[in-house]
Amino acid sequence: MEWIIPANSKIYNYEKAFSTYEQIDWKQSANYQVGDIIYIYATMPVKKILYKTNVVEVDLGPSEGYQNPGDWIDKNGFDSFKEVKRFVRLEIEDHVDNEALSLDALLKNGLNGAPQGPLKVSTVLSSYIEKHMSGQIFPDEVSEELEEGQKVKVAVNRYERNPIARKKCIEIHGDSCAVCSMNFGEIYGEVGEGFIHVHHVNPLHEIGKQHVIDYEKDLVPVCPNCHSMLHRKVNGNVLSVDELKKEISEKSIL
Ligand SMILES: [Zn+2]
Ligand SMILES: [Zn+2]
Repeated sequence: MEWIIPANSKIYNYEKAFSTYEQIDWKQSANYQVGDIIYIYATMPVKKILYKTNVVEVDLGPSEGYQNPGDWIDKNGFDSFKEVKRFVRLEIEDHVDNEALSLDALLKNGLNGAPQGPLKVSTVLSSYIEKHMSGQIFPDEVSEELEEGQKVKVAVNRYERNPIARKKCIEIHGDSCAVCSMNFGEIYGEVGEGFIHVHHVNPLHEIGKQHVIDYEKDLVPVCPNCHSMLHRKVNGNVLSVDELKKEISEKSIL
């Protein structure tokens, strides 16, 4: 099932929340199922679908509902959020700011009116949204080879897929590989412009669910080759960016 839910940026700073936390908890006012897709529609003055999220947990009670007062712009908004009894936990999958997903465009493509509460998305509208949603190319998986030579796919962690975190990481560190300095735009020209993986330096299991991302320290841009190497284990341990960099510089001296 797919849904659209409205969000008011004058009350809640959802952009900050989506770019800072791995998952966020939202008031649950419909019977969502784990695996459902929820599009977040920004109300006035934005009037656009901005985020695609996945439902990862449903029917959470108030004690489990994560809330950070700092993300609330309107104090009354936070007060009423504290009264919420049922939460849904969302994980961001994609973010675009595209006129094709504005209210006017959505109304022409199957939406019946400005979303006031959770709306089920029709098949027609769903394929329209999907067509305009994926604004960025970023990998879901990094290939990893086991010792026996058997190939497995390893899912990169959620921070590495978070489109906002990726954008901020690239703004700070640039889009050249932090290990080998490769730049896709320089090598491949226009088609490679801006392409890069983003690596999270702390393995997912070492960080809590509501860990706040430090874009400067936690994320580095890396090319897919170096990225795969960073996820491989040597004697049970992964190499750090600096260690891998050292490996390369030692080899290139030869
Ligand atoms: Zn590299
Ligand atoms: Zn990584």
